[in-house]
Amino acid sequence: MAQSNCDVVIVGGGLGGATLGRSLAIRGIRTLVVECEAVFKDRVRGEGMHPWGVAEARALGIDGLLRDSGAHEVRWWKRYFGPVPRDCRDLVETTSAHCGCLNFYHPSMQRTLLDAAEAAGAIVRRDTAVVGVEPGDAPAVRMRTVHGEERVSARLVVGADGRRSVVRSWAGFIVNQDPPRLVIAGVLHEGLRAPEDAVQYFQNPSCGQGALIFPIGQRRFRSYSISGVPQRRPLSGSRHIAEFVDACITTGVPCDWYAGASVAGPLASYPGADCWVGHPYRDGVALIGDAAAASDPSWGCGLSLTLRDVRVLRDCLLGTDDWQAAAHSYAQQHDRYYLALHRVEDWLTQLLYETGQMADARRARVLPHWANEPDRAPDLSGLGPDTPSDEAARCRFFAEDVDLPAGQ
Ligand SMILES: Cc1cc2nc3c(=O)[nH]c(=O)nc-3n(C[C@H](O)[C@H](O)[C@H](O)COP(=O)(O)OP(=O)(O)OC[C@H]3O[C@@H](n4cnc5c(N)ncnc54)[C@H](O)[C@@H]3O)c2cc1C
Repeated sequence: MAQSNCDVVIVGGGLGGATLGRSLAIRGIRTLVVECEAVFKDRVRGEGMHPWGVAEARALGIDGLLRDSGAHEVRWWKRYFGPVPRDCRDLVETTSAHCGCLNFYHPSMQRTLLDAAEAAGAIVRRDTAVVGVEPGDAPAVRMRTVHGEERVSARLVVGADGRRSVVRSWAGFIVNQDPPRLVIAGVLHEGLRAPEDAVQYFQNPSCGQGALIFPIGQRRFRSYSISGVPQRRPLSGSRHIAEFVDACITTGVPCDWYAGASVAGPLASYPGADCWVGHPYRDGVALIGDAAAASDPSWGCGLSLTLRDVRVLRDCLLGTDDWQAAAHSYAQQHDRYYLALHRVEDWLTQLLYETGQMADARRARVLPHWANEPDRAPDLSGLGPDTPSDEAARCRFFAEDVDLPAGQ
């Protein structure tokens, strides 16, 4: 078996792996990125990045690359209850990053960033699957190539192999999984009659459904339909397109937006549940992105969270020669920010998607307080995991503080 070594081997050339590969290679760290796909195709993945993720992209020096490769900045975030407009947020004015949501076609983003990693000096092996990881003081990966198996050892192996990560099992991580509460179905539309300068978010708590439409430029839109598990069997494949559109219209999307629109990619459904590991570093192997924590896609934070991981791990590794200590420090920080995000998304799911009498009563009590004091709602777009998520924030979220007698 052929043998070689480098400083860091990254398994997976998605947003996380490619960006980390580029960030380390430009600092002179000998980096290998291994990606099993030869060509990227539509897998129904994240294409709308919140402003807090755009801030991470800037810190990593990739926002210009994304824009140059066709990313589309969307200034407004428009929310509806059913078909009735509720509010329209100017993201540029109201976020500390002073930018809109950055939307892109996922395969183009992957290609751009993997090319950029290569241009920065990383070795990128495409069409090559990692088939094993050996954790330890001198961790290694085994990859399958056209010439047979090859083994590469490194100071650090990074698992960036996505929501179905196998690196995490090879390295012995214990995986936590929330019970499925939501189902999210997504498809790419062309020519939808929706505005291109706003993300459109329709919520219909009375039927436990949501619909999200991200314009990604050139009259293309990534559309999602979200519903509670009890309400919906997963929609997948072309035979379910009409059912998908019906669900969006029932949620509140204007029917005429679909006149003349066509479908430009597969329809696929995913469980709206988090899947994560605690402390994503052990034995020479660190996990980033979805491999470390795949957050419920219904809240659209996975891309931003992935870039937070890359930035934090990069800064830890560049800050010291003791890479074990650096990777432990990354993992500790990951636990803090990921669990904060998880808490807030859990509250949102309870409030906005649960159905039944108790859920209706909760909404009837809480939502008027949100209307009067909008800062009771977490700022997932602007602050992500840095939005307050402590017990006081939870009480304010569920308006429990207003039920307390004065002075308590
Ligand atoms: C339906 C859906 C909608 C979403 N919507 C949003 C959204 O609107 N906004 C948002 O922020 N996030 C969203 N997300 C989440 C977002 O897509 C992910 O968080 C993000 O893509 C994670 O990036 P990653 O690099 O960790 O993993 P991935 O993008 O999955 O990349 C992993 C890479 O590893 C490669 N790989 C896997 N195994 C191996 C192997 N053994 N050897 C070599 N290569 C391997 C894969 O081919 C892939 O290229 C959504 C997710 C889903 C499922």
